[in-house]
Amino acid sequence: MTQTLKIAHLYGNLMNTYGDLGNILVLDYYAKKIGLQTETEVISIGQEFDASRYDIVLFGGGQDFEQKIISKDLESKATAITDYIENGGVMLAICGGYQLLGHYYIGADGSKIPGIGALDHYTLSQDNSRFIGDIVIHNDLFDETYLGFENHNGRTFLGKHEQPLGRVERGHGNNGEDGTEGCVYKNTFGSYFHGPILTHNGVLAKRLLATAITNRYPDYDLTALKALPIEESRYQVDAAGVKLVQN
Ligand code: GLN
Repeated sequence: MTQTLKIAHLYGNLMNTYGDLGNILVLDYYAKKIGLQTETEVISIGQEFDASRYDIVLFGGGQDFEQKIISKDLESKATAITDYIENGGVMLAICGGYQLLGHYYIGADGSKIPGIGALDHYTLSQDNSRFIGDIVIHNDLFDETYLGFENHNGRTFLGKHEQPLGRVERGHGNNGEDGTEGCVYKNTFGSYFHGPILTHNGVLAKRLLATAITNRYPDYDLTALKALPIEESRYQVDAAGVKLVQN
């Protein structure tokens, strides 16, 4: 029987403003190359999140409008999501989703949008401004460089037990002040990167897959996954900035 990874796309019908769905396509792409299937379910408002069903969870970005809508529903899933994270489930949360895994996000209009506090960060607002543009970070633990595009009002400050996903080399990151971008807590990754993040950073996609596979199939031989070539990003960084490489 073909081995399968189940992916939950949290609020995929509402929190996908910047094509974060592409992250799932990338995971599926690498999984298929080593003979694994993926199945994705959108879990949205009024639907139960049964954490035991899933191997990977994607929680994408969205505008303040959608964040306010889902914030009310998210409360009902808070325990299940928190347990999933604490039990080492693999999660990728982008921008608006990343913000709402924390304690709260102060929207551009000054209103407080509650998060679920599964992670210990909080997110403040900016006055009539957004962090927009190309971003490059370096993860010192993995010694990997990640490339992406950020577009957010929020300024996020990490809490205890959270490590940054990387050190900002170019761009703004979590808050434009402390040089951090995103977060890592257990097997949960938060980031402001759109683009989507995994299309540009195959090394991270493979890392998420490897963890999810091992969680589900502890004896799985990861040799084929490790040997898989990473699809190179068609973007490159040089002194002049980030540019599209023409084939
Ligand atoms: N609305 C949030 C902000 O502006 C999240 C944006 C996003 O998901 N790109 O900070």
